[in-house]
Order: sequence, then C-alpha cells, then structure tokens
Amino acid sequence: MSDPALNILNDTFGYPSFRGFQQDVIAEVVAGRDALVLMPTGGGKSLCYQIPALIRGGTAVVVSPLIALMEDQINSLRELGIRADCLHSGMSPEDRQQVERELLMGDLDLLYVAPERLLTESMLRLLDQMQVALFAIDEAHCVSQWGHDFRPEYLQLHHLQERFPAVPRIALTATADKRTRQEIRARLGLQSARVFIDSFNRPNIFYRISQKKQGKQQLLKFLEKEHPEDSGIVYCLSRKKVEQTAEWLSQAGRKAIPYHAGLPPEQRKANQHRFIAEEGIIVVATIAFGMGIDKPDVRFVAHLDLPKSIEAYYQETGRGGRDGLPATAWMVYGLQDVVLLRQMQARSIASQQVQQVERQKLEAMLSLCEVTGCRRQVLLNYFDEPLDKPCGYCDLCLEPAEVWDGTEAAQKALSCIYRSGQSFGVAHLVDVLQGKQNDKVRRFGHDRLSTFGIGNELDQNGWRSVFRQLVARGYVNVDVDGHGALKLNDSCRSILKGNERIELRRDRYEPSTKYQKEYKEVGRVVVEEHDQQLWETLRQWRRSHAEEQSVPAYVIMNDKTLMELIKHRPTTHLELSRISGIGQHKLEKYGDDLLAVLGTVDVEIN
Ligand code: ADP
Ligand code: ZN
Repeated sequence: MSDPALNILNDTFGYPSFRGFQQDVIAEVVAGRDALVLMPTGGGKSLCYQIPALIRGGTAVVVSPLIALMEDQINSLRELGIRADCLHSGMSPEDRQQVERELLMGDLDLLYVAPERLLTESMLRLLDQMQVALFAIDEAHCVSQWGHDFRPEYLQLHHLQERFPAVPRIALTATADKRTRQEIRARLGLQSARVFIDSFNRPNIFYRISQKKQGKQQLLKFLEKEHPEDSGIVYCLSRKKVEQTAEWLSQAGRKAIPYHAGLPPEQRKANQHRFIAEEGIIVVATIAFGMGIDKPDVRFVAHLDLPKSIEAYYQETGRGGRDGLPATAWMVYGLQDVVLLRQMQARSIASQQVQQVERQKLEAMLSLCEVTGCRRQVLLNYFDEPLDKPCGYCDLCLEPAEVWDGTEAAQKALSCIYRSGQSFGVAHLVDVLQGKQNDKVRRFGHDRLSTFGIGNELDQNGWRSVFRQLVARGYVNVDVDGHGALKLNDSCRSILKGNERIELRRDRYEPSTKYQKEYKEVGRVVVEEHDQQLWETLRQWRRSHAEEQSVPAYVIMNDKTLMELIKHRPTTHLELSRISGIGQHKLEKYGDDLLAVLGTVDVEIN
C-alpha cells in the first residue's frame, strides 16, 4: 500500500524523497504521539508538521514567535495549494472573524498563531469548538531562559497539554545544546515525547575564517570576487556598525539594508520584507535578525565580529544555503574581538554560574577560530557528532594552516607583559618589543626594559598574532575593566620557563593565489556559460509572477528548481512533475507557461 505521507511529499510538495528523520517524525505525529525534533536550520523541519496537518483530520495549529514572517509562510503554502492562514494582533477585526469562521467550518489545513494569542481565553474557546489536528511549536528553544531568543509567553505553552490531552504536540528547534533540549522537554511537558535528533552537518556550507585586518575591505573583496550578485547576511555586533556597514556597502554599489533592534518597528518590518522578497540583496544586521527567516537562496553569511558561542555562529551561518545549493560562511576576527567579548562578559550582571557557562562557550568559539585542522570537525564535535575524517570542504581542508615554533616569540611576548607591569594593551607591548621610541614608551621608561627592541624578527601584525593566540588559548588574560591590559596567568609559566613548547599558526588574511582557483569554485552556485541565457530568462519569468502576486520570487520557484529545469529540460507535464519542487498545484498553474519559456514546448506537440 502506498504511504499517504510520501504521496503528499511527491504530489503536493513536488519532492521525490524524505530527508533524514522526516518520515519517522511524520509517522509519530500522524499516530497521535508527541515529538521533539532537532534539526539544523534548513534541515526541513516544516514538513514534519505540515504533512501530518494534511493527513490528520482538522486544522493544525502552529505556534510561531514571529508575526512578521507568518505571511510569508502562508504565501508559500498557498502556492502549493494548501489552505493556511494566521491570527495575530496586527489583523483587522474583520479579517480575524473571517479566519475564525474558516476555522469553525474546518476550511483550514494550518493556522499560524503567536504564542500570546494562543493562550487567550477567546482563542482557547475557539479551539474547543474546532477540531485541532496537532499543535506544532516552532522555534521551541524560545522557552529556554538561557538563550537569547527567550520568550516568556512560551512558558505558558505547557497548558496545552492539560487542556488538549488528546492532541499530539510537536516541538521543533535548530538549537542542539543538551541543556536547552532538556529545558524544552521539561517546560513544554514533553518528557515522554520521542526525540529525533538529525545530523547537524550542513554539507553545502563552506566555512572560512580569516584574520581581520581591515574588516570591511576584506568583506568587499570577498563579495566582489565570490558573490557579486548574491543575497546574503552580514552580522555585526553593534547597531552603529550595522548602520555604517550597510551605508558603506550601498556606496560600494551593493543593495544593502540595515536591521537591528533599535530601528523603528515599521522600518524593521519593511527591511525584513525587502530581504525576503528581493533578489541580490544584503542585510547587515545584529543577532536580532534571522530567526524564522526561511529565504532559501541566501548564498553567504558573513561575520564582521566574533559571535559569542558556536551555537550562535552555527545558527547564524545555517541561514545560508537552505535550498541545498552551495553557500559560504565567511568570518574575519582579531584580538580586538576577543577583548570586546571578554569585556562584555565581565560587565554582565548574570550569576556566577551563567558567566562561567558563557566563558566556556566563548573559549570553544575561539578554538574554532584558531584551530589548525578541519573546521567542520570542530563544529560537529561540539554538537557531539564526531566526524572521523576532515571534511574537504572548509578553508583549512583546502589550504592547511601553516604552523611555526612560536616558543621563543611567546617567551618574549610574555616577559614583555611581565616587565612592563601587566598594565598595558597589545599596541604598546608591540611598540616596546619593536623598540619604538614614542612618547608613551619614554614616559613609562619602557625604552630601558630588557625586552625593549628584542622583537625585530616579526612585524607588527606578526606580534599581534602572537598575542592574540596567547590570549585565545588562555595563556594570557585580558584586563576587562580597563583598556584591555594583558596579564599573565599561571598557565603560561611553563612556557616562560622553557618547559613547554608552543606551536603558533601563521595568520592568513586572504586565500593564497595557489588556492584562488579552488576557492573560486566553492561556496558558489555556478551556471554554465551556455545556460546563462536560459537562467536569466527563467529568473525573469519567476520575477514577473512574483510581482504579479506580491510574493517573494522563491515562493514561485526556488533556485534549485530552476537549476533542475535547466539541467533536465523537461518536455512534458509528466517530466515537469519529476522536477524537485514542482508539485501538482504548481504544475497546473505554471506547467504550460514553463514549457513555453523553456522552449521545449514544440517537442511535446510533435
Ligand atoms: P528548517 O528546518 O530550517 O525549518 P525548512 O523546513 O524551511 O527548514 O526546509 C528547508 C528547505 O528544504 C525548504 O525549501 C524545504 O522546502 C526544503 N525541503 C524540506 N524537506 C525536503 C525534502 N524531503 N526534499 C527536498 N526538499 C526539502
Ligand atoms: Zn574541513
């Protein structure tokens, strides 16, 4: 007997086969049992509740924290012929009543609601009167008080279990952390739910981290060389830097818009919409941006500042390449980032215990930056998913890090910190090592130190690199109250005494020319020369339909589907239906049109 879930996947969504655990999760929920689903961003969580919603009787209620994104989710579903709607505070009373009527008539497959609305008395009464197929709790990590996405309203969601014991609940998140996982189970009353943990590997994302020299310039170079026309996200730490960078990119001729929590709500909403709807657009943002954004064609995620943890880095970079096509995760970082984050932590008013956890998370992030082996191995290891071989698809796999015996340099650097009294920052320490006769050096009499001028073997950047690595590896502390003075700690003693040797990596600001060619070919979607014209025609076709219906282009068809059309050049409706992403509804709606655009229509007539 054929599997109804598979039929829906093929016919409605137009996909040939399930990914990872999707089929098992769907079976669990269809059978009326609870589930907790952990999958990386872009892994395909939505299908895990959308397909059961279509199989089980009644309407599935989806709790989603982001009202601004509900419309987009609904548009995508409607384009597949699925009956979906939403209820939120931004709607007019008439629109709300209309949706309520549809619900009572059983005319909706899915209903999206914000958590605060779901638990209002009127909503609960409505739910009592209708048939609820299931509850899906999206972005379930919002229930975690430790995370930066905490939403107090999520804490109320455990009431669902008491009030609707017979309705299955499925919670979904891309946050893998064990602590968060336990919190979700406890707070949502999902102790007996089956837990599905998918692989966190995102094989189509190319990871790349370089040292920061002039961050913005490096970014621009990267964009010009590798993503001249693509959409992407640039993350910065501060609002000011977000605005400056967006402005700067615009002046450099890119379509770039800012996003941070300090912008007026209307502008935030408008910019979010532009990012979702337009092609070739860059959003420069703080971490406030990104949750729930499912734009599939984000081709790069760039970090101009260091994220606070691997979780944050992974979630942010995971927003690239949701369509499965190549995407680049690019980052530059330097000592200044480390100092800044340590200072922020020191100013934190959180409990000792939380600070301790935050420190450990930052250490893990730093070791990802300073590693000499495969980045993906470090990342997946962090999520308890060891990868036994180097991935072959990250910067260090392509171009191994060069290491050198830095013992002597480290000794010089450490003793310079010690002799100058452990109250100076890197810039001054480097001046002393290099024997610079400037005011500050003379004022403190540092030209008389035994470490004055002993460091001519390295240039300024070379010394900065030594200090950074000593800090990143925890041999040296940064004084977080003052101006980033470096201080020794116990662990550096063995180096100073010559009992321990230390290997340092040579910094890299850009890929070497030797590897330029290979770099060029990774993390990029490449359309062959002879297909360029058809690619443009298809995009133009997609754009005109998108504009006509006021939906983002990818809602009509995503890049991956267009690429498949180019590759297979279908000539009949049957062949079209085999293209990934073309289901029944799209086939009926666009089939003839597409065959004409592809210029293959004649073949069919013959
Ligand atoms: P997330 O886990 O981040 O919520 P989505 O549910 O948005 O991920 O899925 C990411 C993309 O992958 C979407 O474009 C979705 O349509 C697509 N997708 C999901 N499952 C499959 C599948 N089995 N085959 C092909 N594409 C899929
Ligand atoms: Zn690798």
